[in-house]
Amino acid sequence: MVKVLVVGGGWSGTAAALAAAKAGADVTLVERTDMLLGTGLVGGIMRNNGRWTATEEAIALGGGELFQIADSVSRHRDIEFPGHKHASLYDIGKIEPAVKIELLARRIEIRLETTAKDVIKDGSRIVAVKLSDGSSVDADVVVEATGSAGGMANCGKYGNGCAMCVLRCPTFGGRVSIAAKAGVEEKMGQKADGSIGAMSGSCKLLKESLAPEIVKQLDETGVAVVPIPEALQKGEEALSSKACQQYALPEFAANVILLDTGHAKLMAPYFPLETLRQIPGFEEARYEDPYSGGLGNSMRYLALAPRDDKLQVQGVDNLFCGGEKAGLLVGHTEAIITGTLAGHNAVRQALNLDLLELPRTLMIGEAIAYVRERMETPEGMGQKFTFSGSVLFNHLKELGMYTTDKEEVAARVDTVNLTGVFNQQLAK
Ligand SMILES: Cc1cc2nc3c(=O)[nH]c(=O)nc-3n(C[C@H](O)[C@H](O)[C@H](O)COP(=O)(O)OP(=O)(O)OC[C@H]3O[C@@H](n4cnc5c(N)ncnc54)[C@H](O)[C@@H]3O)c2cc1C
Repeated sequence: MVKVLVVGGGWSGTAAALAAAKAGADVTLVERTDMLLGTGLVGGIMRNNGRWTATEEAIALGGGELFQIADSVSRHRDIEFPGHKHASLYDIGKIEPAVKIELLARRIEIRLETTAKDVIKDGSRIVAVKLSDGSSVDADVVVEATGSAGGMANCGKYGNGCAMCVLRCPTFGGRVSIAAKAGVEEKMGQKADGSIGAMSGSCKLLKESLAPEIVKQLDETGVAVVPIPEALQKGEEALSSKACQQYALPEFAANVILLDTGHAKLMAPYFPLETLRQIPGFEEARYEDPYSGGLGNSMRYLALAPRDDKLQVQGVDNLFCGGEKAGLLVGHTEAIITGTLAGHNAVRQALNLDLLELPRTLMIGEAIAYVRERMETPEGMGQKFTFSGSVLFNHLKELGMYTTDKEEVAARVDTVNLTGVFNQQLAK
């Protein structure tokens, strides 16, 4: 039987594991912490702007399970907030168990609190991966989905210090990059000012610490937009350190924008608590532990693997990558679709089948190729790419690819004969 090892259990790794299992592989997923979903444990925003089209495209391609799970635990659907349309917000308290149930139902072996520490190579192939418990796992193909954040030292070196983010490096140790261990030279993204990395773009407030009228609005509509008194505004430059450039809009500097993901998701990279508490309604505000949203969140985009458009890592014969590891792509949707393609192609490679490259007439295919091309330019290394705004969304709109017409999306996928491709069981 084909054996696929997926390293990293964020959105990308869970998608890769699912896709490989559906294609017929025996899949092991290792995750260094005690929960799946990585930074997906703090996000929640789905289907905003072009993510709607990409989601429907993934569903038409047969890779829709994780999107349907996110939809099923959404607290709010089809909402608008500045610069963003038809968003849904999944409940961050409910999403992880729901995903885990799906993976276990597909007979994926999930090994939590297990860090992949090193690789054993034979020439340019990985033959086994060494784990933190002293064991090693043999695999035909490895998918790396370790994200691009951590360990703590990186957050201190490139950001405002270790902000005790959801990745919990002090407890579980930092990210270990498989590509780097296999001898691949990784790349680092940059902020707008040219310094390294990018800061996570939102933080969380305890809902209970906010004024009742704000909580009511969040519960009922999913969104609260509260003007910041002019004297307290930080100016738009405060937005430039964010990973999520789709939210670096003037409205996000002039207002406190909150979204209801179960907690109150504050759409700012950081916001000093003493300043926040001067805004009416926020007098008793406090950040959700363990995030230090007053000063900083995690630094990301510190370890990107060079890859082709089939998501094969260059320089290692049997290594694929997805999510932030696959480049300057931001978001759950982006991680799920790249993870899905990586997991599916891992099985194809093990079976000596042609690898799947999604055509550029599809939004996902265009995004994967476009981001790789942009990352070959110095300017592109200072940008971040997402279906939900900024550079990539503008590019896709210019190509006429953004639509909210499900039938149009399904027809596009059908035209290239790829309907349900990710549902094919390749290994018997
Ligand atoms: C605060 C915050 C808010 C966000 N909000 C949103 C949002 O609302 N909507 C949205 O679309 N996107 C959002 N994002 C971005 C989005 O979460 C990420 O781009 C995406 O989820 C990345 O997924 P990933 O799987 O590539 O990486 P990660 O989520 O970083 O997952 C990597 C996983 O690999 C594990 N790992 C690392 N090294 C090893 C190893 N050697 N062995 C085993 N395991 C390992 C880590 O523990 C982690 O679980 C947010 C990000 C942050 C930080």
